[in-house]
Amino acid sequence: MSELMPTVFIGHGSPMNVFAESEHATMLKGAAKKWPRPESILMVSAHWETAAASVLKVDQPKVIYDFGGFPPELYKVQYPAPGAPALAERVHELAPEVALVNNWGFDHGAWTILHHLYPEAKIPMTQLSLSRAFNYRQHFELAAKLKSLRAEGVLILGSGNLVHNLRAIKWQTDAPVYDWVTRFDRILRDKILERDLSFLLNPESIDAELAHLAMPSLEHYLPVLYTLGSTEPGEKIDYLHEGIQNASISMRSFVVGG
Ligand code: ZN
Repeated sequence: MSELMPTVFIGHGSPMNVFAESEHATMLKGAAKKWPRPESILMVSAHWETAAASVLKVDQPKVIYDFGGFPPELYKVQYPAPGAPALAERVHELAPEVALVNNWGFDHGAWTILHHLYPEAKIPMTQLSLSRAFNYRQHFELAAKLKSLRAEGVLILGSGNLVHNLRAIKWQTDAPVYDWVTRFDRILRDKILERDLSFLLNPESIDAELAHLAMPSLEHYLPVLYTLGSTEPGEKIDYLHEGIQNASISMRSFVVGG
């Protein structure tokens, strides 16, 4: 029996963060050393959305450069970790509605942070998609079906951004932060600590206009529901990092039960 693994949510921001020597990157480099070493990783990235929930079952996933307009060196970054076909099978067993697929790889929501967390790229990893057909509760309930994986050495890792508005983005990483970004990031900070599901499963409920500004689309928020959904009420939640990049991207990251 493995030690119970924590679950983690990491804010990833720009793919250029793979090269960063920032406070956020330093946090990532040190964070994994505090957790039991996972036998495998189940990544839920903002950058893999599908019609039906899917899990990647391949022996050696390819690295996907799912962005445009970045410098050429970014398209050379590799993350040669093996796939985790046995974990994909376990996910399908626990949640038969999740289809086994082979038409994805490691997207930049995954490899930009894994490059810092586990640079040796030896831990088998697979990705679980975000189904576009799910509402908030269905994402959370799927995560709950997977919580027993934590006792099998699986690190469930959500990768997104709690506030993510690309229309308002500024090129400079340390550009002055919009007021509404700070406001919504702080609301989420408190609601996550309180595990306030009535809010977290309906984040428009406090201030719909503010929520729409902070998350004009939901894919960068939804991985949070996997990080929290695969834990029990009362488990300790710790922030690993807080900060805003590019004026409108929250890099807030946290661990549950670690
Ligand atoms: Zn992203």
